[in-house]
Amino acid sequence: MSLTKRRFDALIIGAGGAGLNAATQLANADARVAVVSKVFPTRSHTVAAQGGVNAALANVLPDNWHWHMFDTVKGSDYLGDQDAIEFMCREAIPTVYQLEHNGVPFSRLDNGKIYQRAFGGQSQNFGGAQAARTCAAADRTGHAILHALYQQNVRARTHFFDEYFAIDLIRDDEGAILGALVLEIETGEPLLIEAKATLLATGGCGQVFRTTSNAHINTGDGMAMALRAGVPLMDMEFFQFHPTGIAGKGMLITEGVRGEGGYLINKDGERFMERYAPNAKDLASRDVVSRAIVTEVKEGRGVGPNGDHVLLKVDHLGEDIISKRLPGIRESSKIFAGVDPVVEPIPVFPTAHYVMGGIPTDRYGRVVTPIQNGPEEVVPGLYAAGECACVSVHGANRLGGNSLLDILVFGRAAGQDIIKYLKENPNHRPMNETGVEQAMSRLTRWEQKGEGLSVREVRDEFRKAMEDHAGVFRTDEIMSEGVEKVKEIRKKLADVRLTDHSDVFNTARVEALELENMVDIGMSIVLSALERKESRGAHSRPDYTERDDTNWLKHSLYFQEGDKIDFKPVHTKPLTVETFPPKARVY
Ligand SMILES: Cc1cc2nc3c(=O)[nH]c(=O)nc-3n(C[C@H](O)[C@H](O)[C@H](O)COP(=O)(O)OP(=O)(O)OC[C@H]3O[C@@H](n4cnc5c(N)ncnc54)[C@H](O)[C@@H]3O)c2cc1C
Repeated sequence: MSLTKRRFDALIIGAGGAGLNAATQLANADARVAVVSKVFPTRSHTVAAQGGVNAALANVLPDNWHWHMFDTVKGSDYLGDQDAIEFMCREAIPTVYQLEHNGVPFSRLDNGKIYQRAFGGQSQNFGGAQAARTCAAADRTGHAILHALYQQNVRARTHFFDEYFAIDLIRDDEGAILGALVLEIETGEPLLIEAKATLLATGGCGQVFRTTSNAHINTGDGMAMALRAGVPLMDMEFFQFHPTGIAGKGMLITEGVRGEGGYLINKDGERFMERYAPNAKDLASRDVVSRAIVTEVKEGRGVGPNGDHVLLKVDHLGEDIISKRLPGIRESSKIFAGVDPVVEPIPVFPTAHYVMGGIPTDRYGRVVTPIQNGPEEVVPGLYAAGECACVSVHGANRLGGNSLLDILVFGRAAGQDIIKYLKENPNHRPMNETGVEQAMSRLTRWEQKGEGLSVREVRDEFRKAMEDHAGVFRTDEIMSEGVEKVKEIRKKLADVRLTDHSDVFNTARVEALELENMVDIGMSIVLSALERKESRGAHSRPDYTERDDTNWLKHSLYFQEGDKIDFKPVHTKPLTVETFPPKARVY
């Protein structure tokens, strides 16, 4: 197989909000930047973000970045790094204005200012009354942001490789990253992209669960590439289950619905969140609401013939508000649940939504391989930003509206730091041919065809195992079984074959590569979850019901080699303000 090569200053793998915001910085600074995406850029999953992006603009209610910071630290169940959180909450305000200037059509108040809605976990004055901090473009905020960023990149002449699949990073013997091997999906031709700096911006991995709000493309490829390059994944036990997925299907009904005044009821018509979170009620943090829904169903107060979901009531908002503020939700409910929320409540149940963990980075987007009790080492030439990265600003639980913020703030920060890195490292390092051969072997492995297990059957088995063994409630027994099942499935990968007719458009090969990636990520989730013997944020253990700050206020690290778990300290010291010390987390 011939191997074409291209050289760029910077390679960005992923064209969602994180990748495109980084690319704009670089292209505008006249760097030669390549953006690789396995789907057309504006189909990246950022397009699906509905509810909005947080910034303390104080357009609707009093607000400031310090209250935003407090809510984020509390929402993270005190596992978030407070220096990174302070940076993000301060940067939120100029970030939203920048988006506005770049053409994002935010919804407006009558006075012309950007509209802001209430989201879960938001408060005024450090835990007081509900705040309204989420800037929205109706319920299509991600769509508006992604299109604006794409247009900025087209103008800045970013070089796009659309529908190219990144297979693996190439690194040299010193551990520096030299670029990546990618596959042109249409032709099946491999391409080696050499770069002085490479940014992973490949998004989340919700597809590892059977029921998810995430698109088929969210298979955690960048995280798996990092693992294979020797980088650990951090805090992978923390996976967010969004409380309001369409029951049985998983598509998202944004928290913005509850922000606009919608609320949850059980089969008795009871507004049950009043029992679980007397103050915040339906706008408690997502982990709290998800656990409440699962408990209602388990205790026999679920709705429907099987009592397996609850209802989200919105009809009292009236058709005008629903059409103006939540048009996409009305459409999704009609298509996927067969109900019009203007007249009927929406059947909902928690759905796998967002990975708080990921590739460990500092707040400049630089990938770090931390060693317990030792200094963190920066991996030369490797950056990560967006959902695949873990800065960590979300800790054990992410607040709604903070992910779009994360991808924009840290995408930009990574772009800016790469500009600096390129000045200090003006030359390409020599290519490592052994590394290229290794990456090529991942591709050629899927040229073998014949009798064996199919990708589909192994994938279905794997995603079910993850749902059964790493869901909302986790016990030692459930998770130990999960680890064994994922290990079995990992072995089965050797017996998977493509059929003779299966790779007409190379999609079968891509699906096989994605499956390998997902199983690697799945292993990081179940092993990290089994290790953490406490309940914190989204990680809820009936056998260890309390948060244990004495033993577990630390980040976990999963290393693929030897399936090892290690830990590193949480950065509890912010940049300029006082630390928020851990407190009981009540809403
Ligand atoms: C339904 C839904 C609604 C949401 N709503 C909100 C919200 O209202 N507010 C909020 O803050 N957050 C929201 N989120 C979360 C937020 O949208 C995501 O976390 C965020 O958009 C991720 O952005 P990203 O840039 O990291 O990745 P993505 O936008 O997912 O982009 C990933 C990119 O990587 C590319 N890629 C991946 N693997 C490869 C590979 N192997 N080779 C080449 N390219 C690859 C993809 O093609 C894509 O371009 C929502 C999430 C979902 C699922």
